[in-house]
Amino acid sequence: MGMKKLIDILIDNIVYIIFGGMFFFVYLSTRKRNQQHKEAKKLIEKAIKSGVNEPMTLHPEVDPVLCAGCGACTKVCPEGDILKLINHKAVLVGPSKCVGHGECERACPVDAIKLVFGTKTRGMDIPRLSGNYETNVKGLYIAGELGGMGLIRNAIKQGILAGQDAISKLSSDAADYDLLVVGAGPAGLAASMTAIAQKKSYLCIEQGSFGGTVYNFPRQKVVMSHPFELPLVGQKKFESNKVSKEQLLSYWSEARKKVGLKVSEQTKFENLEKIGNIFSVKTDKGVFKARKVILCMGVRGSPRRLGVPGEDLSKVTYNLLDPEQYQGQSVVVVGGGNAGVEAAQMLGDPKWNNKVHLLVRSETFDRCNEDNIKRITAMKQKGQVEIWFNSSVQEVLKDQIKIKKENKIEELKNSFVFVFAGAEMPHKFLMSLGIQIDKKFAEGLGN
Ligand SMILES: Cc1cc2nc3c(=O)[nH]c(=O)nc-3n(C[C@H](O)[C@H](O)[C@H](O)COP(=O)(O)OP(=O)(O)OC[C@H]3O[C@@H](n4cnc5c(N)ncnc54)[C@H](O)[C@@H]3O)c2cc1C
Ligand code: SF4
Repeated sequence: MGMKKLIDILIDNIVYIIFGGMFFFVYLSTRKRNQQHKEAKKLIEKAIKSGVNEPMTLHPEVDPVLCAGCGACTKVCPEGDILKLINHKAVLVGPSKCVGHGECERACPVDAIKLVFGTKTRGMDIPRLSGNYETNVKGLYIAGELGGMGLIRNAIKQGILAGQDAISKLSSDAADYDLLVVGAGPAGLAASMTAIAQKKSYLCIEQGSFGGTVYNFPRQKVVMSHPFELPLVGQKKFESNKVSKEQLLSYWSEARKKVGLKVSEQTKFENLEKIGNIFSVKTDKGVFKARKVILCMGVRGSPRRLGVPGEDLSKVTYNLLDPEQYQGQSVVVVGGGNAGVEAAQMLGDPKWNNKVHLLVRSETFDRCNEDNIKRITAMKQKGQVEIWFNSSVQEVLKDQIKIKKENKIEELKNSFVFVFAGAEMPHKFLMSLGIQIDKKFAEGLGN
């Protein structure tokens, strides 16, 4: 058949070809959508079955009336499958994996997403804070993770906002400092730098070392860090938003040097009393008077405990600083979230020759991002770690550990136990300072 004849046939049948093409396109997109619906529903069912269908912290709430079903929010989350489209609407399918990055909220072109604490039926306890992070005790602020919101970038942003607000309301009452900042993690660092930038007197106290929780991350841990801006230093963006713990600490140390930030390390905040407009702040190194106080204490001071016999043995720890210290050991890591899974990866590195058991309470990894799941699954396949789902510690003994696995008690040889079960909010302590704790039912900060 010649080319002309072929063209004639195509022209004669153009209407059928166009309709056929359209029909095929509609068929393919419907099939794809149905598949996506099925996957999304499976994820919801899995979360319900594993009992992890409730968000742990700040998470997106989608207004179905506003949602245009564009799917932008489903593609931007660094933690993986958290939002998915069902019937053209974004739905929270992996609530417990959400750590509150807020990328979805920023990606939504129609403002259908709001980041909230708690759900309509299950409240979450959060210190009462104004939009500028001031508590109900005037002049006393909370910035960073202690206020309920995780992540380094949030801590820095809140430290700056709290510092700026506190400085804008300074009185002229006699005091040792304009600002007293408790904690030298990212929030405390940012609040103190704000005081320096505005030429105000400050005291930053830290019970441990400069760097906060990041200082206690395991060696060479990869930290996800979106761009942030420090007063007098400017904006910092790390390549692919990833950086090692050491590089991040070194960047903060350089910034600290540049602005001349002083931190009183190994100084513990114990209590405070408000006398008139001034705070009398008690520490283990003395009492200081400050016009404003910003608590940037994070939550890691109170790791959640297992509550089992033997937990007080010195072989049970709640962080992993240097995996190299543990070689040729039988170790158990408790916790299927990112912290636990990353610790198991480090301890399971073949060069340390450890026997690692990772215990996960639920039947799958439901509090862990996709990258970590892939890495730990690959290690399991190579025999570098054992993963026990539906498992929990029953008792820790000197050289053994008793574990309940699928309703059976197993006993393992054991030299160290690493517990990564999250942290308790120190609400009782905050209440003793007069700070109101609210139960949030699907509400944002300051609602
Ligand atoms: C294992 C793990 C992995 C994480 N990975 C990431 C990540 O990849 N990306 C990310 O953005 N976030 C990550 N986070 C979260 C992030 O580390 C925190 O959100 C952030 O450090 C909070 O900063 P902060 O300044 O509020 O508190 P912190 O960094 O916790 O600092 C609080 C400081 O206050 C001090 N302090 C506490 N009580 C007192 C007291 N009484 N007196 C004096 N000082 C006190 C503490 O010693 C501490 O140094 C991770 C957290 C963990 C646990
Ligand atoms: S980005 Fe906004 S409009 Fe688009 S699917 Fe997500 S919630 Fe709906």
